[in-house]
Amino acid sequence: THFGFRDVPVGEKKKLVGEVFTSVAGKYDVMNDLMSLGVHRLWKRYFTGTSGIKRGDRVLDLAGGTGDIAKLLLERVGETGEIVIGDINREMLGVGRDRLTDLGLVKGLRYVQLNAEALPFPDASFDAITMAFGLRNVTDKLEALRSMHRILKTGGKVMVLEFSEVQAEWFRPIYDFHSFKVLPKLGELIAGDAHSYRYLAESIRKHPNQAGLKALMEEAGFAQVSVRNLSGGIVAIHSGFKI
Ligand code: SAM
Repeated sequence: THFGFRDVPVGEKKKLVGEVFTSVAGKYDVMNDLMSLGVHRLWKRYFTGTSGIKRGDRVLDLAGGTGDIAKLLLERVGETGEIVIGDINREMLGVGRDRLTDLGLVKGLRYVQLNAEALPFPDASFDAITMAFGLRNVTDKLEALRSMHRILKTGGKVMVLEFSEVQAEWFRPIYDFHSFKVLPKLGELIAGDAHSYRYLAESIRKHPNQAGLKALMEEAGFAQVSVRNLSGGIVAIHSGFKI
């Protein structure tokens, strides 16, 4: 199919991922609310609330296109902190910037178009890095995690919020039905785009599970890596430190 990424070259895949998000950028929010029945807002609030990010911190929010995470983090870092929003897609960055600017949030925010696999920042330049629903789309996840490790200060923390593996056996068929049948249908009806949502379901299935991502983070050099499941493992928060 159009989004059968398994057999396309890496360069092509990057282009396709870019197109997926360009095509959904506008409808992105409505879809998130519908697909998760609004729960993504709670996940994001929990994610930032338990981050330990504090006043004065300099934080990189990767794949931060929508501005959702940055908005929550800005309250935490305050006047003396800074949030850099990094995303590979111009349109997504634009959507986020418009939204935050409309809320009057300008000071302490920066926007950088970047690829998470090759972060354009000096070594040891951030106190924390967050990445919500973004790592799944990255081609070389280990390279991205290594790049994050490099730009973190010693003692810095990385946090990844991402779809993961549902823990309860009985829930899996229901979840799969939702992902592979309901979501593409909703995507077609709301965003006029079933492909992107079929890609979403496939990318969730292909993404490493809790143990897999933990191992990958450790391989990238992170210490004290811990995992917390939310909503029975539909999503999980992985965090680790640079020591
Ligand atoms: N963090 C936001 C949220 O939780 O609402 C946006 C998540 S959205 C599902 C995924 C984002 O990842 C898109 O904006 C996409 O452009 C971005 N993305 C995909 N691959 C990327 C990469 N290699 N580097 C940086 N951003 C990437």
